[in-house]
Amino acid sequence: MKEYPLNVEVPNSFTYVTKNITKTTVEQRERALQATHYNEFAFPAGLLIVDMLSDSGTTAMTDMQWSAMFLGDESYGRNKGYYVLLDAMRDCFERGDHPKKSLNLIRNGEQDVEKLLDELYLVEEEGGLFNGGAAQLERPNAFLMPQGRAAESILFEIVRKILNDREPGKTFTIPSNGHFDTTEGNIKQMGSIPRNLYNKELLLEVPEGGEYEKNPFKGDMDIAKLQELIDKLGIENIPMIYTTVTNNTVCGQAVSMKSIRETAEIAHKYEIPFMLDAARWAENCYFIKMNEEGYADKSIPEIAKEMFSYCDGFTASLKKDGHANMGGILAFRDKGYFWKKFSDFNEDGTVKTDVGILLKVKQISSYGNDSYGSMSGHDIMALTQGLYECCNVDYLKERVDQCNYLAKGFYDAGIKGVVLPAGGHGVYINMDEFFDHKRSHESFAGEGFSLELIRRYGIRVAELGDYSMEYDLKTPEQQKEVVNVVRFAVNRSMYSKAHMDYVIAAVKALYEDRESIPNMRITMGHNLPMRHFHAFLEPYENK
Ligand SMILES: *Cc1c(COP(=O)(O)O)cnc(C)c1O
Repeated sequence: MKEYPLNVEVPNSFTYVTKNITKTTVEQRERALQATHYNEFAFPAGLLIVDMLSDSGTTAMTDMQWSAMFLGDESYGRNKGYYVLLDAMRDCFERGDHPKKSLNLIRNGEQDVEKLLDELYLVEEEGGLFNGGAAQLERPNAFLMPQGRAAESILFEIVRKILNDREPGKTFTIPSNGHFDTTEGNIKQMGSIPRNLYNKELLLEVPEGGEYEKNPFKGDMDIAKLQELIDKLGIENIPMIYTTVTNNTVCGQAVSMKSIRETAEIAHKYEIPFMLDAARWAENCYFIKMNEEGYADKSIPEIAKEMFSYCDGFTASLKKDGHANMGGILAFRDKGYFWKKFSDFNEDGTVKTDVGILLKVKQISSYGNDSYGSMSGHDIMALTQGLYECCNVDYLKERVDQCNYLAKGFYDAGIKGVVLPAGGHGVYINMDEFFDHKRSHESFAGEGFSLELIRRYGIRVAELGDYSMEYDLKTPEQQKEVVNVVRFAVNRSMYSKAHMDYVIAAVKALYEDRESIPNMRITMGHNLPMRHFHAFLEPYENK
């Protein structure tokens, strides 16, 4: 058949709900900044033109997701969505090209009760990341949560308790290619030390002309550093090893399958559980498909299947990617390394305390019973549909292309410090470069930049550098792992080219006037855990 190619992209979706933006003045925004102690998180979203603080739970949903919400129910025990959500996870993370799509039973209004019993309600699953039927009751291993940090918090609280019972008062280290800020916070609160072992030189390398031919996977774990850390500390001091995909803290950079495989190999050599922070599993699979040899012809679920096959457990925010506005999960492999390490056994090998039961107790006492985990039945259905939509390559391409457009726009405007390539969910600017290395670590000038962007142009971004990553509170070793960046998170299917062009123009103008951007001083909450969410600030002149 003859084809008629054009040199522009074919659109992937269109919008039919519109939200108008309230226009505000510099004076009004300044008033609000003062009244909220210059805490970005406390600034009213209704006063912003473009909000790029986070892509967590902020994205537009599809018509299919909205329609799925009607099919959910709010039963206290075992709502329909519980079954299809766990099965959607098996489909997307474990079954590759052979999904069961049990969601269709609900969508089609199936009335054949025997079929419902056999294919939905009483299906037995074991040995993977999501036990089903009686196995999930006997050995619980999948815990629905309202969001990612809730999953992290029950995980680290229970792990801490188990380790502390075994060896009271001991400090542990948990290495990662890059812990997210809440993961770091949760690890610190359990008295352990988070380490971020990526390659900083590679991260900050600027490619010729602003573009790489192939994505260089700057989010990879630095395997040599990991081995060095294990040799130095000893395996008994490292209860688990984490890999974050994509690597949000390291500028949303992609992680190669090779890196995931090699990290898992090292972990398993020492019988250390290997965990994924899988918030952006789909974007990461897309990067692997497009850039890593041997994956071009594989579907996203096939790539995900391999990726998840290496882990012994994972936590994930399911508010990212194309998921939904609410959701999270903690899961571990049935009878895998995680289960073996944190359960207690009798001398005859029978289980004395199952870590899954401890986690379930914690889940029930904090987030409700296991079949909803603080989500409504409607949220669960939107999430189930969202998981399948994450596997759509056209959607993923559109999302990654939009980030690239923004990064390229900054680069072409002459703004220094743009991290290239763009991350999968946002664009990062290195504030040390942006300010020509003239501002000290204590100046929190990156936070000054973020607040000035709100004040002048009504654009909110997230500082994820010296201020949020607590540079001044870290050891010299950990300080080297901080990248002083701000992040422009791109919400899925929400903003258009017009928004991106507005942001590019605003940052260019601010860059040209960067000398006048104030530094920031913390006036309350310097040592609070995850201080950026609640500390007070005030600007002072940069002299
Ligand atoms: C957002 C995020 C989290 C925390 O998830 P929430 O759903 O926002 O609580 C954890 N890890 C990564 C990599 C994230 O991007």
